[in-house]
Amino acid sequence: MTDWPVSQKNSEYCKVKIIAHRGAWKSGGLPQNSIESLLQAIKLHADGSEFDVRITADDSLVINHDREYNGFVIEKTPFSELVKFRLSNGEKLPTLREYITAGIKNNNHTKLICELKSPGSENGRNIYMAEKCVQLATELNAKGYISWISFDYEIVKRISELESDAEVFYLNGDISPAELKSSGINGVGYNYKVFLKKPEWIEEARKYGVLLNVWTVNYEEEMEFFIKKCFDYITTDEPEKLKYKIHYKNTLNTRKNDY
Ligand code: MG
Repeated sequence: MTDWPVSQKNSEYCKVKIIAHRGAWKSGGLPQNSIESLLQAIKLHADGSEFDVRITADDSLVINHDREYNGFVIEKTPFSELVKFRLSNGEKLPTLREYITAGIKNNNHTKLICELKSPGSENGRNIYMAEKCVQLATELNAKGYISWISFDYEIVKRISELESDAEVFYLNGDISPAELKSSGINGVGYNYKVFLKKPEWIEEARKYGVLLNVWTVNYEEEMEFFIKKCFDYITTDEPEKLKYKIHYKNTLNTRKNDY
């Protein structure tokens, strides 16, 4: 992958980091959250590759976005049942262990953006899952590679307690950056519509030293808005397009038919 020449970078823009949402799956027609889509994001030199973790009924950590996998509710099904079904590219349903192991091999430029999909707080299941994920990252010597994200406030608070040096982003859009900071959470990662509705939260995040991440930004107009706002991270299904836009903004508008 050729990197963009520095001389052609547009100096009016900040260094915004690109997160490939569920891996770089789209341009190659790969299944989302597959190891192949992760490797493609690494090959593309995305700054981060996001993926979704769920916990099975028998405590395995697997990578899948939806609550169900081939008609089975993941949280209520043992791993041995789920693993019978392959992904559309023939890959086995990845475990978190396999995913992290693949993601840290020959990679020093793409962070693993690990989203914990909450199993709910009943019996402390969400906290149990958070602790199990951190424990696995520690065992694999992968902690420096991982940023953590979740819609579950208890999960992000627990991970922030355990991993005070890690970037941890809360996703649910309902808590101000100042309040997150006071709970020990150092990142805000909200849907782009939240920031359009509450633009004052962008300045507030800066004031309190809270990192800014936004999802899922797939269209030119929104990309441009958040690049201009100097977000730390933009999460997108179109990492190639965003990369091009960050580095060749001036030419993109006249050459967009190339994409
Ligand atoms: Mg996700």
